[in-house]
Amino acid sequence: MKLHEYQSKTIFAKYGIPIPKGRVAATAVEAKHIAEELGGRVVIKSQVLVGGRGKAGGIKVAKSAAEAEGLAQQILAMEIKGLPVRKVLVDEAAAIEHEIYFAITNDRAAKKPVMIASAEGGMDIEEVAATKPEKIIKVHIDPLLGLRDYQARDIAASIDLPRDHWREFSKIAAGLWQAYLETDATLAEINPLVITKDKRLAALDGKMMIDDNALFRHSDLNEMRDIDEEAPAETEARKFGLSYIKLDGNIGCMVNGAGLAMTSMDIVKLFGGEPANFLDIGGGAGSDKVAAAMKIILSDSNVKAVLFNIFGGITRCDEVARGILVAMDEVKPKVPMVVRLVGTNAEEGRKLLENAKMITAETLADAAQKAVQAAK
Ligand code: GDP
Ligand code: MN
Repeated sequence: MKLHEYQSKTIFAKYGIPIPKGRVAATAVEAKHIAEELGGRVVIKSQVLVGGRGKAGGIKVAKSAAEAEGLAQQILAMEIKGLPVRKVLVDEAAAIEHEIYFAITNDRAAKKPVMIASAEGGMDIEEVAATKPEKIIKVHIDPLLGLRDYQARDIAASIDLPRDHWREFSKIAAGLWQAYLETDATLAEINPLVITKDKRLAALDGKMMIDDNALFRHSDLNEMRDIDEEAPAETEARKFGLSYIKLDGNIGCMVNGAGLAMTSMDIVKLFGGEPANFLDIGGGAGSDKVAAAMKIILSDSNVKAVLFNIFGGITRCDEVARGILVAMDEVKPKVPMVVRLVGTNAEEGRKLLENAKMITAETLADAAQKAVQAAK
């Protein structure tokens, strides 16, 4: 789950990381009031869950409350990378001397968290990473020992941070590590961490991603989820406990098991098709879950054929077949459907589907080829 900038910075502040004063607003008038409270000079920041807002014109500095109102109005009318702006953060504007990149994320290859920093932070960090990788400093953190103070100082030295700021930087690093650890984050990023003209450090931007698998133990964070920002199908899928990710292809895939889902997608590609989604209905799915999954797949207008690949183990094939029939009754799908059922109660499942005008297949390869053909 991605958190908005204002949410991430609120968490940072709890861990002692300095952030500018500010509040979030949903209307231009509200933004004006906040700007008045903050003394007029503010920055108006679109709150959408994508990067590169600055370059898209979604971050603007205002010199007065009146100007803040006008800019908020403009930004609230924007769409950034397809996402409508529903809220703006109104922050006290900072006088920036220098922008640093500073983050912690998981390094899967190293099986450890890694702290990443660069003296060349700001909006061009991707460019820096691509053209001057030596400017990106990485220090791994031992998950059992935690971040050591010398590691923070090593980073400060490597990014040529003036010594006056080392003590404060170490505190920010420790705070970021604690925030990352205690929220079960997969990313905690400050870009930019700035040195201000009056020689203080401040986190001007914040981005956090929380591991969805850990949300059950963070009810407070779970409440921060912004449903408006999610694809409706993904919200619906979560409600039924389905793992669903929409993709760009035209073959809807309904599979039980993440590994089997990946394999099915690969085989579809092997035969020249493109999957429209990843969908794992999970083990032991009953007919209601199957019906929900089918409705989600069919709500995608790109879908030109559906491939069911069900390996009956704990999940019973007849239950899946019943779910398919329930959903077909409700949605009356017009696209061809290819089904491959093997394993527990496969025979019963096939019998149930006999009258449903579905294309049947014996093997996954056969099913994938038939689905690709049917989608043409
Ligand atoms: P992003 O483009 O989505 O990463 O949004 P950021 O919050 O990082 O803002 C983009 C850029 O706007 C920063 O790199 C800064 O250069 C600038 N910016 C953000 N806040 C302020 C501020 O308070 N004062 C000034 N002068 N510039 C700011
Ligand atoms: Mn940024």
